[in-house]
Formats: sequence, C-alpha cells, structure tokens
Amino acid sequence: MSFYDENNIFARILRGEVPCQKFYEDDDTLAFHDISPKAPVHLLVIPKGSYRSSFDFYGQAPDRLITAFHRFLGLVIEKTGLKDTGYRLISNHGIHGNQEVPHFHVHVLGGRPLGGILDPR
Ligand code: 5GP
Repeated sequence: MSFYDENNIFARILRGEVPCQKFYEDDDTLAFHDISPKAPVHLLVIPKGSYRSSFDFYGQAPDRLITAFHRFLGLVIEKTGLKDTGYRLISNHGIHGNQEVPHFHVHVLGGRPLGGILDPR
C-alpha cells in the first residue's frame, strides 16, 4: 500500500481536530459538505480507514468495507434527494487526476445540470 500521510486534512477531520459540516456517518464511513462547493450539492464521502486513494481502497480494504462504502454512498444519494434529477460521482487519483487530498474520497455532485464530464482543454 502506498504511503498514507496521517496529517492530511481528511485524517484530521476524522480525528476531530478540524471541524466539518457532517451530512451523515456510520461506523466505517463519513459524508460531509465540501468546503468549496462546485454545485448546489457537493458532498465528500470517505472511509474512516487510512486509504490514500481509490487504488489503495479497492486493492487493500476488506470486501466488507468496500461493500459497506458503496451501500453508504447509495444511502447518501437517497438522502440528498438527487436520485431523480441526477448526480455525478467523482474520485480523483494522483497527479493527472488532480487529487488534492491524499485520503480516498468520492465527490457527490448535483442540484443543477453538470455539463460535460471534463473541462475542455
Ligand atoms: P480532490 O481534488 O482531492 O479530489 O478534492 C479535495 C476536495 O476537498 C476539494 O473539493 C476541496 O474543496 C475539499 N477540501 C479541502 N480541504 C477541505 C476541508 O478542510 N474541509 C472540507 N469540508 N473540504 C475540504
């Protein structure tokens, strides 16, 4: 598994050292509002374990946690009310993915038409 920085901002949120606006949580997973929302709904969903990105989480986490994470995501989508209008899930990895925070997270975005999947370049 790749190096995990215990002082990344999401690890600090999980330890209660940095506040967040919680949306929902259970024993394994936390959903909270992005500090710089890119859409009317912009949540971040993170496992409570120390996984740097999707690559580590899907490769290293026990099956139970992977299943629980996705069930949790489904519940979050239901609770946002975005199911009927639509939404987008994004998970960035590494340099080309422009991952800013090195703790695995899925962005849940919605509340307006979101346009094309990538910025034109
Ligand atoms: P990434 O680029 O790593 O996929 O996304 C990281 C996200 O975390 C960004 O959308 C950014 O706005 C958000 N973020 C960074 N620091 C904080 C923070 O301290 N609190 C919250 N709630 N979100 C943060």
